[in-house]
Amino acid sequence: MGQVATKGRGWQGAVLKLLGGDDFELTVTGTEVVTDHYVRLEFTGGGLLAKRALHPTMWIRMWFDDAGKLHQRGYTLVDADPAADTFGIEFAIHDGIAARWAQHAEVGDTITATVMGSKFTMPGDGVRGWIIAGDPASLPAINSLLDAIEASDCPQTPATLWLEYQHESDKTLPLRARAQDTVHWVAREHDGAALVDAVRSSAVPAADHFGWVALDSVSTRAVAASLRNDYGIPKKSVKAQAYWIPGKSFA
Ligand SMILES: Cc1cc2nc3c(=O)[nH]c(=O)nc-3n(C[C@H](O)[C@H](O)[C@H](O)COP(=O)(O)OP(=O)(O)OC[C@H]3O[C@@H](n4cnc5c(N)ncnc54)[C@H](O)[C@@H]3O)c2cc1C
Repeated sequence: MGQVATKGRGWQGAVLKLLGGDDFELTVTGTEVVTDHYVRLEFTGGGLLAKRALHPTMWIRMWFDDAGKLHQRGYTLVDADPAADTFGIEFAIHDGIAARWAQHAEVGDTITATVMGSKFTMPGDGVRGWIIAGDPASLPAINSLLDAIEASDCPQTPATLWLEYQHESDKTLPLRARAQDTVHWVAREHDGAALVDAVRSSAVPAADHFGWVALDSVSTRAVAASLRNDYGIPKKSVKAQAYWIPGKSFA
């Protein structure tokens, strides 16, 4: 881990430092335009993967510069290779500081990331199926979950995927669904309510399933509640995290 710039992070940076968040300098080693609204960058981790153990859905806090002020945003490690300290990061593109940075990134560019707060353990053998709800921002995490299910002792466990799209091209994104999985793409309508309604109206008893939800903040809460109340999945078997805030920058 080299010396990295921490000036300009404000109170969030100070809190993360106090909590012991480690900083790493990432370097861009490759760029790929996946669709008109999705960019993938390759990175070396500046020692990140030597210091931190990998887990499915693992995410980091990247610091993006906006006129001298640094803003942290969560992004997910994709296809990480701990021995080589390399990984990809996939960016859903919208009008935001992080998305703009990704669109203009070039090989050799560097950016600081803090590792703090990412935690997920795969559930055990008792899970009979997965109900997963996400969108292009959480597609990288969903792919890492599907990879982890495939690599587990129960690779046949099916997943039902509820995926929200805003652009036609989102439906062509590289989703790692397997033959036993069911995929529903739902257009984002009524500020996300369309996907919430679709999940609710398809409810079946699923107490032995595991639920994983990462959408905008309002939809995340609503879908997680539906998985508990309408599908009967126990609270401890539902992992939900808001990935973005509609109409507002993420802190
Ligand atoms: C744990 C975690 C992991 C994440 N992993 C990824 C990842 O791997 N890839 C990825 O693309 N995103 C990921 N996200 C989401 C990403 O951090 C947010 O989308 C973030 O707000 C983007 O920052 P920004 O500076 O581009 O936009 P912001 O400044 O935060 O927002 C600007 C505007 O864009 C809108 N906006 C923000 N995000 C989205 C979106 N996804 N879709 C549509 N509109 C949006 C906001 O409502 C606002 O109006 C993750 C979030 C978390 C919490």
